[in-house]
Amino acid sequence: MGVNLEKYKEIKHRCEEFSATLVAVSKIKPVSDIKALYNAGQLDFGENYVQELVDKQSQLPSDIRWHFIGHLQSNKVKYIVPFVHLIHGVDSLKLLAEISKQSTKLGKRVSCLLQVHIANEETKFGFAASDLQETVSSIKSDPGKFGGVEVCGLMGMASFSDDQNQVRAEFQQLVALGKEHILSLIPAGQQPIWSFGMSGDYELALQEGSNLIRVGSLLFGARL
Ligand SMILES: *Cc1c(COP(=O)(O)O)cnc(C)c1O
Repeated sequence: MGVNLEKYKEIKHRCEEFSATLVAVSKIKPVSDIKALYNAGQLDFGENYVQELVDKQSQLPSDIRWHFIGHLQSNKVKYIVPFVHLIHGVDSLKLLAEISKQSTKLGKRVSCLLQVHIANEETKFGFAASDLQETVSSIKSDPGKFGGVEVCGLMGMASFSDDQNQVRAEFQQLVALGKEHILSLIPAGQQPIWSFGMSGDYELALQEGSNLIRVGSLLFGARL
């Protein structure tokens, strides 16, 4: 199987048309596959598991921008903070505070996205839409606790559904929530990041305003 370079070029081109970033999701895939895509020009890669990310990072070029897109446990934050480019799945203030603490220790600020629960499925992580306002207020009111992070936008996952209208509505909800609640947190001069869209729905995501899509299986093949 290996990496699908034709598909890569096609998706990369779509992203350029929408001024969106393509994150190649390489979880479970070997370092050699990442290297193949890197050699084709890809710099943004996404991983879901801390140990796997740390192992891969140590074997691959240092100009790769690593995105942590999985469910992050507070006790593992310290392993990725030294090098991670963007942490997508922040779904609690406790986790955000821990990222801030570890970043501050290293004298840096780490960019994060708040994950919002938009799917009508029980299993997906994230803040409830109704909690977002209070969450943002808490972050703003305690710069001591959250000074080591920059909240750069939102991340979401739509329902795993063939119903395009439902997926579209969930994407629209994410962008609306972002515009309503998050803009005041975004560092001055930066565009907010709306991270949504995967192999099955990236085209719809781009049309609905995503500026960062996370695509795995279309590039690397199915994960068995
Ligand atoms: C695995 C994963 C992806 C990529 O999924 P594909 O369907 O393979 O494109 C994107 N986002 C998250 C959060 C993931 O866990």
